[in-house]
Amino acid sequence: MRDKSFILSRMFCVVGAHTDCYVCHKSTPVFAIGVAECTSTDPYQFGIDEDDSSAILIGIQDLNYPVIEVLHHKFSTSFKLDTCFTQGRQYWMNHCAHCDSKLGDHYLHSEPDVAFFPTNEEGQTRLSYAWFSFPLRAVALLSAGSTSSYMASTLTLGD
Ligand SMILES: [Zn+2]
Repeated sequence: MRDKSFILSRMFCVVGAHTDCYVCHKSTPVFAIGVAECTSTDPYQFGIDEDDSSAILIGIQDLNYPVIEVLHHKFSTSFKLDTCFTQGRQYWMNHCAHCDSKLGDHYLHSEPDVAFFPTNEEGQTRLSYAWFSFPLRAVALLSAGSTSSYMASTLTLGD
């Protein structure tokens, strides 16, 4: 994981998964945003990091409106800006579709086999990958790993 960056990408991917809410214990859909061939700038080094690899955005602090519109109209309005008290800041996070509990990025992206961190290929094929050729602008952390590699392969296949 790298530091928070300003990210520009000519396309983005909405990655879908399901997880059990830890409050009401019902299954709820959750979403993540991925990019490929993005350009990111490191705000602390004032440089442009030309980055053609794929990555998942986490801790999204800012997101341009067309991306929000796609998320809210085609997927879920439960992905919204909210305050993470353990981190003491706001970011765009998933919420349970049933009870609106916050489902933070650390839980969804860092816990093995919970949602976006499948530990085998069978788990990765259970995620859904929907690509959109709208420009994305965001302030977020870039996380590269097996899920973003698999996500990029769905783009190559034209799925
Ligand atoms: Zn719930």
